[in-house]
Order: sequence, then structure tokens, then C-alpha cells
Amino acid sequence: MIQRTLVLLKPDAIQRSLIGRILQRFEDAGLKVVGMKMNWIDKEFAKKHYTEDITKRRGEQVRKALIEYIVTGPVLAICLEGIDAIEFVRKMVGTTEPKTAQPGTIRGDFTHQSYGYADAKKIAIKNLVHASGSEQEAKEEIALWFSKEELHSYKTVHEAHTL
Ligand code: GDP
Ligand code: MG
Repeated sequence: MIQRTLVLLKPDAIQRSLIGRILQRFEDAGLKVVGMKMNWIDKEFAKKHYTEDITKRRGEQVRKALIEYIVTGPVLAICLEGIDAIEFVRKMVGTTEPKTAQPGTIRGDFTHQSYGYADAKKIAIKNLVHASGSEQEAKEEIALWFSKEELHSYKTVHEAHTL
């Protein structure tokens, strides 16, 4: 099924000049960029992205640290389209903790932070990217970050082979 998913390049990815290398991976896999913009969000917006669901799953301390982290610089919001894109992009991104994320994934290749280190410092794990975790999340997050006019339907020259 063709799906759309939201990817954020978080402040650490931007400040480490990894935009091109990370985007390249998604393009190489045949995913289509259907929306993209750079935003420096405030805490109010951050709370809409990192909702109470994070508190339920990870605790209040993690949500607080995440909101502090995501506003430290601009982020690049990208809407990607492709076959089962939500699950596929999560696979490319890797598991939450870079220390245990597999080599070949974005989090596994470009950083190495651990839960233990981040928790001790009371910071959110700096893992470069956010990717929607479910169909529901993707729907809500795309609507939060993009207006309808900012999302585009077009054909790529590769479409005969990848979509
Ligand atoms: P994701 O979907 O893999 O990004 O993971 P979650 O949605 O569960 O968590 C959102 C973000 O919170 C993660 O990407 C990390 O930056 C951060 N985070 C999650 N769990 C922990 C934790 O146990 N400790 C710390 N310090 N940060 C965490
Ligand atoms: Mg998540």
C-alpha cells in the first residue's frame, strides 16, 4: 500500500551537516519527497508533536527533555511517500537507542548514544531523526507539520521501477 510518513531531521542532524547524506538514503531507496521545509519550532508546537502519548510510553522526564531538545535549532520536516513507507522508513532509521541500532541504519551509522548516558544527563537521546511509528501517528503528524498545499503529487522518472 502506498503510504505517506513524516520524517524530521532533528537539530543534531542539521548542526552536524547530515541533511544531504540522510536524504540521499531515502531517495536511493526510491522514496518520494512530497513535502519538505525547515522550521525552528517553539515549545508550544513541540508539545503538539511530542504529545502525552510519549509520557505514557516513556515517562514525563523523557517528554520534558525531548521538548527541550527539539527546540534547540531548526529541524527539517520531510513527508515521504512510498510502498509501506511508515514501516520501511522506520527500518531505515533503526531502533530508538543508537547504541543498539543496527549498522546500516541511520541511527546505527551516524551516532552512538545510549539510554544510560542520556538518562544520566537528563537529556533526550540524540538520535538524529524522527519517523512516524504508525498509520495513526503519520496521519496526525503530517497534518500538524504540513498544510494540504505544501504536499505535492507528482511522478518521478523512476516510478516505473520503484512505485
Ligand atoms: P522513536 O519513535 O524511536 O523516536 O522513539 P519514541 O517515540 O519512543 O521516543 C521519542 C524520542 O524520545 C526518541 O527518539 C529519543 O530521542 C527519546 N527517548 C525515548 N526513550 C528515551 C529514554 O528512555 N531515555 C532518553 N533519555 N530519551 C529517550
Ligand atoms: Mg516515536
